[in-house]
Amino acid sequence: MPELRKDPIVQRWVIIAAERGQRPSDFRVEASTVEINPKACPLCPNNEERTPPEVFAIRLDGSKPNTPGWLVRVVPNKFPALRLDSDLNRRGMGLFDMMNGIGAHEVVIETPEHNDDWDTMPVEQLQRVFQAFQARLNALKEDTRFRYSLVFRNYGVQAGASLSHPHSQIIALPIVPQLPKEKLTSARQYYLDKERCIFCDLIFQERELQKRVVMESKHIIVLSPFAARFPYELHFFPTRHNHDFAQENEDVLRDLAIVMKRVLTAVKRLLGQPAYNFVLHTAPNPVPRPGRPDYWGTLPYDYHWHWEFIPRLTRVAGFEWGTGFYINPVAPEAAAEVLREALRASPDEVR
Ligand SMILES: [Zn+2]
Ligand SMILES: [Zn+2]
Repeated sequence: MPELRKDPIVQRWVIIAAERGQRPSDFRVEASTVEINPKACPLCPNNEERTPPEVFAIRLDGSKPNTPGWLVRVVPNKFPALRLDSDLNRRGMGLFDMMNGIGAHEVVIETPEHNDDWDTMPVEQLQRVFQAFQARLNALKEDTRFRYSLVFRNYGVQAGASLSHPHSQIIALPIVPQLPKEKLTSARQYYLDKERCIFCDLIFQERELQKRVVMESKHIIVLSPFAARFPYELHFFPTRHNHDFAQENEDVLRDLAIVMKRVLTAVKRLLGQPAYNFVLHTAPNPVPRPGRPDYWGTLPYDYHWHWEFIPRLTRVAGFEWGTGFYINPVAPEAAAEVLREALRASPDEVR
C-alpha cells in the first residue's frame, strides 16, 4: 500500500510508493559528467585569466592572487543570474511585486584537481571548501541588501552542472526564498510554542527509533528523512544545536568532511555515478535592515543548519508540477538500511 507522509517541518506531503519494488541496482548510473579536456577547463590552474578576478582564495604561501598556487578559489560567476551593482528599488504594479535583480553569484572552485569529487578529495581539502563557504557567507552578510545566501553544489549534467571541474555556487538574494522561508517560519513557530528546536527534537526522535539513521559520528548525524521527496535523499545535521553553518567550529567541519566522504562513497558503491545536488540550509542574514529592527530575535535558538543531499535518479514530472507532491519509489527506511550496509562494506579509514 503506498503511503502518504507529511514532512513535519515544511508540512509538505509525499507519496512513498515503495511497492514498485525498485532495488538500488535499478537506479544505477554509470556516468553523469561530460568529460572536458583540463586544458580547455576555465576552472583549472593556469587558466585563472579566464574567470573574473577572485574574491577569496586559500593559497600556498607566496602565491599571488589570480595565479596558480591556490587550493580553493572563489570567483564571481561569469554569467550571473543576478547582479551586484544596483539598489533594490522595490516596486509594485497591482498584484505584481518586483525589485531589481540584485544579488551575488559566486563560484567556489573547490580544488585544483580537475577530476576530484567530495568522496575522493582529502578530508583537509573538503574542510577548506567548507571554510571558503563560511568566509563568503560571513562576507555577504555585511551587505544588508542580502537576506539569504544559498550554497549549493550541482554534480553531473542531470543535476545542472555545466562544468565538470569540482565547484559549488553561492547565490546571495535580496529575499528569503520560499523553501528556506517555510523551514524558518515553521521552526520559529515550533520554538514559540515549545521553546525547543524542532530539528533537535527530530534528531532525538530519530535516534530513539533508529529506523532512518544512516550514520552518526561525534558531531554529525545523517538521516534518511521520514517524508523524503527523492530516493536516497539524505540530510546531514550537526548533533549539537547551531543555527548558522558560517559560525560552526573546525572540529565539526572536519567531522562533516569525513562523514560526507564516507556517505558519498557508500552512495556511489550502491548507485554508481549518479548526478546529485548538495544544498545548504542555514540561518538567513540576521543583520537588521532599516525599518525591520525586530528581525528574527529567536533565530539562534529556533533554527539548526543542515545539508540536503539529493541524488538525481527520478524525474520531476506533471504530477509533481501539478500538486507540489513528490512520488518517492524508495521507502526512506529501506534507503537507510541499504546505505548502512554499504557503509559497513566501505573501509572506515578516510584520508
Ligand atoms: Zn578543470
Ligand atoms: Zn537544534
